[in-house]
Amino acid sequence: MGHVARIVEVATARLVRQLHTPFVTALRRTNEVVSVAVRLTDGDGRTGFGEGPQVWRVTGESLASIEACVQGPLAEVLLGWDPDTEPVAHASDALANAVVGNGGARSACESAVLDLVAQEARIPLVQLLGGTAMSVATDVTVAAQGDFGEGVDASQFRQVKVKVGLDPADVDRVIRITRAAPGVPVRIDANQAWDLETASASIEALLAAGVTLEFVEQPLPAWDLAGHAELRRRWGTPIVLDESVFTIHDLRRAIDAGSGDIVNIKLAKCGGIHAGLAIAREATEAALGLMVGSMMESELGVSAAAALAATISPDAVHDLDAAWWSLPGSDGGSPYQGGRFVLDPSPGSTHAARRVIPESLSWSSRAHGQ
Ligand SMILES: [Mg+2]
Repeated sequence: MGHVARIVEVATARLVRQLHTPFVTALRRTNEVVSVAVRLTDGDGRTGFGEGPQVWRVTGESLASIEACVQGPLAEVLLGWDPDTEPVAHASDALANAVVGNGGARSACESAVLDLVAQEARIPLVQLLGGTAMSVATDVTVAAQGDFGEGVDASQFRQVKVKVGLDPADVDRVIRITRAAPGVPVRIDANQAWDLETASASIEALLAAGVTLEFVEQPLPAWDLAGHAELRRRWGTPIVLDESVFTIHDLRRAIDAGSGDIVNIKLAKCGGIHAGLAIAREATEAALGLMVGSMMESELGVSAAAALAATISPDAVHDLDAAWWSLPGSDGGSPYQGGRFVLDPSPGSTHAARRVIPESLSWSSRAHGQ
């Protein structure tokens, strides 16, 4: 790895996007998304970027908490850090040791570090991680209470994920949606909204209606590992664990309990790409499937997640449609093509993604020695 000058400035800014369709899950409804962009500047004036999403009800992080975390304990770690004397993995560990939780803040900083290192090495991030795929398939989410024809043109995607859990009529809605695309397997995500009996009755009704369920994601509360294991035994339908697995320790408990078939890795949960790689290794050893998802992030955050996805599971259909909801951007460009998220081949991780950062964005910065 080539020389990267020391990091001399850590800056944050609020990144606002309007969505073309309201995004509704069992937990929230939103028309506008705001996240925190992180910008690291090295002594040569090179900049690396990352993104931290506000997700009160999953990670507990807010815009203000991400800013405080990045400008405080994480800046302490990053300012003056030089990858010539310390490998990136050490920076990831130091970020993880600096704070409890705060996965989105840590991930934003780690992504920005990796962006700098990959730029210096003149390779795309995915290549720095050891991956070779330059695009990954993604599903598109049909929002809770949403339907085809209600703003979601899903025709460009090959896989649909339907959010459920808000409404007793959810099962009928899923059946209606799948009848619009007969024979196509559907994935559903309840975002923890069901209890064991509701989940069991819903799965039973969907199977009885002839729906091909690819998987059921997080039907039960995050803590209910035994309930997820019971659903697997009853129906044999694959279970995806999302909110149940933040860290590698969560993964080990879920494996011991037999709770899931697939793990949905998100950078804002695990704290960054290095942690995601470790989770992927252990999940694979335990014969679990892998998918990579994201929070409601812009193309900036999704680009980092897509590089991880392309590295650990290039053939899976991932859950990386988040940036599609607010695109196209000011230049009309989009990384989404034919149901795939196409990675930027330029050095670093976020060259194309920077189109989402307006010139006028107002940055708050902390410099080395401050
Ligand atoms: Mg989910």
